[in-house]
This record gives sequence, structure tokens and C-alpha cells, in this order.
Amino acid sequence: MKASILIIYTGGTIGMKEDPVDQTLRPFDFSQILEEVPELSKFAVRIDSYTFDPLIDSSDVEPSLWARLAGLIRNRYDAYDGFVILHGTDTMAYSASALSFMLDGLAKPVVFTGSQLPIGRPRTDGKENLVSAVEIAAAKDPDGHALVPEVCICFGAKLIRGNRATKMSSESFEAFASPNLPPLAEAGINIRYNRALIRYPSRWDLPLQVQTNLDTRVSILQLHPGITPQVARYFLFSPEIRAVILETYGSGNALTKHWFLDIIREADQLGKILLNVTQCQTGSVNMDLYATGKSLKRAGVLSGSDITTEAALGKLFSLMGRSDDNAWVKKMLERDLRGEITK
Ligand code: ASP
Repeated sequence: MKASILIIYTGGTIGMKEDPVDQTLRPFDFSQILEEVPELSKFAVRIDSYTFDPLIDSSDVEPSLWARLAGLIRNRYDAYDGFVILHGTDTMAYSASALSFMLDGLAKPVVFTGSQLPIGRPRTDGKENLVSAVEIAAAKDPDGHALVPEVCICFGAKLIRGNRATKMSSESFEAFASPNLPPLAEAGINIRYNRALIRYPSRWDLPLQVQTNLDTRVSILQLHPGITPQVARYFLFSPEIRAVILETYGSGNALTKHWFLDIIREADQLGKILLNVTQCQTGSVNMDLYATGKSLKRAGVLSGSDITTEAALGKLFSLMGRSDDNAWVKKMLERDLRGEITK
């Protein structure tokens, strides 16, 4: 039987086409996707599409869009073998990360893709990205189970786990990297799957559960030389802030000034959730390595291990949306829930 795929178009560069009259870029009608990308009809795949109205530039993505996407996948889950989400590249890593935590018991592929050049332009990367994303979303093993039952990003001939991805380039066709985990698949002459890295559900027949309520009371404080107590206090103490992602140096280090550690301790005592994420692209937080990291740990800061900021945000939104109990959120934060950290 033919696999069936739902392409969900949210907006972004990929769906743009040049208007022949005034040469401006406009979104094209996705119900005609097979006309635009005839290569898709060569697969034994039934393709339906769903277009968001209005389409959005991904700089405008909000958690409400993630809730819409999750709801759409839930409502059509039984009708399709896989989902391809066309999304602007700017915040794609945030959306893929968030969705990975919002979908419980996922047993089908949810593949994000987009492009750097519109699909209607010569030399576009959009066609190749889309065709590979569809092939991956439809791929099954001999038992009929999805080869990649994960939320992932297919871009520049690589398939990477969504919550490991980060946008690296505003120009290159290889726009995304997965600095701390090798790709789940690579598209060459064939698509080569790295099955040892792909996560499979404990049971294939569990119903998909979708979380749509997220708690967004998170701030991100990036440390930098010259940071002042006023700035740190602002990010840590606002009453509406429940959790703070501290973007630290190297292996999770921060300044050792008394005022800074006092502020961190005070925030911990106020019950704020404090998560240490490194500013480095690769490598992990290790707060036992240097005295500066140790002081943070003693002050109540949790290790984000090798999580990206994008994934840390989605994980916090999701965990805090599930419970008001900060002790539970802290316990879950240090666990690997969706392959987002290396344990
Ligand atoms: N600004 C666009 C967006 O993120 C860029 C893109 O699609 O690549 O929606």
C-alpha cells in the first residue's frame, strides 16, 4: 500500500515563487505542490497538503503555532504515515525542539524542512530538501514501522534530530548543524540511516498524546564580560520568571564575583529554576571541572549537559506546562527525555 504523507506549510522562504509580473516573491498555492515539484510524483507516496492561513515568517513563531501544529498532527495522526512541516529556517530549530517535547508516544516521522532559496528560483535547495524530507517521512522497515519515528530536521542532505539542531548559517545550503550528535541519516545516492542513533518507541501501538499548554515564563541570560548586577537581577528576579537559562562560558563557567554568586543563590532560594547551558557550539557543561563551575552548582544551578539553548527552552516550556512543582521539573530537566542530551 502507498505511504501517505501530510505536508504542512507554515510559511518561510521555501514556499515562495517569483511573481512573473512584478518579480516579487509570493507564497505559491500548495495544493499544486506536485506541479511545482514533479519529482515528488515519482515516489509511491500519496501526498496531501495543509496550508496555514496566514502564512508566517518564522521570526513570528509563537508557542501557539506549536500548539496548532501538535493539534493538527494529533487530529490526522491515524490518516498518515508521516508528516513534513515546511517552516522558515530562522526559528526551525526552536519549533522542532519544542514539538519533540510536546508529542508523547510518537511512532511516526515529523520532518521539518525549508530552504535558503525559494522553491521557484533556479538553484533552489528547496526541492532537494523537500523531496528528501518526503522520502524519509515515508520510509518504513520490513515490518511496516517508520524508519525515523522522531521529530527531526531534513536540510542540506542531512537528517538531524530536531532537538539537537541549531541554525549555523544564514547563507549556506547547509544551514543547520547538530553539533553534539551525528546525523540520523545522510542523503547521497541513497539515504543512509544511522539506525543505532534513531530512537524507537517502547511500543508502536501507544496512542499519541499531545501537550499543548506550555509555560513560557523563561528568560535567557547570556553571560558576557562587563555584565552588571542590574542586568543579572533583571533577568533573574522578575516575578513573572519561573526559570532562567544561564548561557555560560566553556564547560559551564561563570564569573566568580561575590555579587554574581549572591544573586544566583538568592534566585535559587526564591525557587527559580536555573539551568546551565554552555555558549560553546560543541561540548558539554561540566560544573565539576573548574572552581567557577563548582560555585554555580553549589548555588543551586542545574547542568544542561550538552543541550542546545533551543532545546533547553522547549524542554522548560514543556515541563513547566506539565507541572507547578519545581522540584519535579528540576528532576526531569537533568534526564534525557527525547534524546536532547548525551547521557
Ligand atoms: N525569514 C525566513 C523565515 O524564517 C527565512 C527562511 O525561511 O529561511 O521564515
